[in-house]
Amino acid sequence: SDVASKIAAGEVIERPASVVKELVENSIDAGATRIETVIREGGVAEIRVSDDGSGIPADEVSLAFLRHATSKLTTVDELQSVATLGFRGEALPSIAAVSRATLTTRATGADSGVRIQLRYGETAGLDEVGCAPGTTVQAQELFGNLPARRKFLRSSAAETARIQEVVSRYALASPGVKFTLTADGRTILDTPGSGRARDAVLSVYGSDIASQMLPVLHVDGDISIDGFVSTPQISRGNRSYMTLLVNHRWVFDGSIAYAITQAYQGMLPDRRYPVAVINVVIPAHAVDVNSHPSKREVRFRNADRLFSAVHYAVRDALLAHAP
Ligand code: ADP
Ligand code: MG
Repeated sequence: SDVASKIAAGEVIERPASVVKELVENSIDAGATRIETVIREGGVAEIRVSDDGSGIPADEVSLAFLRHATSKLTTVDELQSVATLGFRGEALPSIAAVSRATLTTRATGADSGVRIQLRYGETAGLDEVGCAPGTTVQAQELFGNLPARRKFLRSSAAETARIQEVVSRYALASPGVKFTLTADGRTILDTPGSGRARDAVLSVYGSDIASQMLPVLHVDGDISIDGFVSTPQISRGNRSYMTLLVNHRWVFDGSIAYAITQAYQGMLPDRRYPVAVINVVIPAHAVDVNSHPSKREVRFRNADRLFSAVHYAVRDALLAHAP
């Protein structure tokens, strides 16, 4: 029903940053090398994400907006070893349920593209169009049909900051992809997409921080840890400057964050945290990714071993730096 789909949409799409997260994930899954995000008024007036990825074949475009229509999962077993970021087919229908959405796409090898328009969940048009290969999704007037949800949003500046955080995390996670973010006509993030993690760190955090980031690299059997941690001189008042990646997927995990800060024991003042980008590469069978699309929690089969590996990796990086 209409109510049920609005409720379901609200679980995935809490605010403009949730739209950006889902669209950017789809672009990464589509193999994009360039992902451009444009927002207006904190994303409430407009969010537009364009990529140069594989596109969607013309005959699958309307399917993409059906709930649970995912092209990324064929058996339940695959849930256990899911490599792509999205796997539930919830995002596009949820976005379309709470905005005026337009998706324009041209699949690799296709002669022309397709544009589908939806208005708060109802299909409002499907046309053949000329466009570059790849996909652009535009969502306008977000929550225009849900005034209560819109009231719950913060200022345009605060919503923009959340979007910038999301795009920055994916830029750190995928240094081989060129990300841009333009807010109300101003480019606020522009990464080179060089494939070098340090270049992404430089674009996201600037040279003062990037020059104080120490390389992390540690291999322990089938677990490997890589990334960067800041010297103790660069500390922050909260944990949000630590980006945790599992197999290059941005996650939230309290124990990895704790392992990182513990490795600084005695070096950081009270309640200070480092800047860090830590990627854990681990066999897919050793990690459960929470199936709730808006959460980023993970569960590890061998959490103690992982904790030690991260702790060791970070401590090693700090010791190598110490005079
Ligand atoms: P999911 O990502 O969970 O599969 P979505 O609702 O996010 O579900 O997307 C539905 C489907 O639409 C995807 O499985 C994919 O086939 C297609 N799709 C969405 N966005 C893109 C994109 N940017 N490029 C190519 N295909 C896309
Ligand atoms: Mg998705």
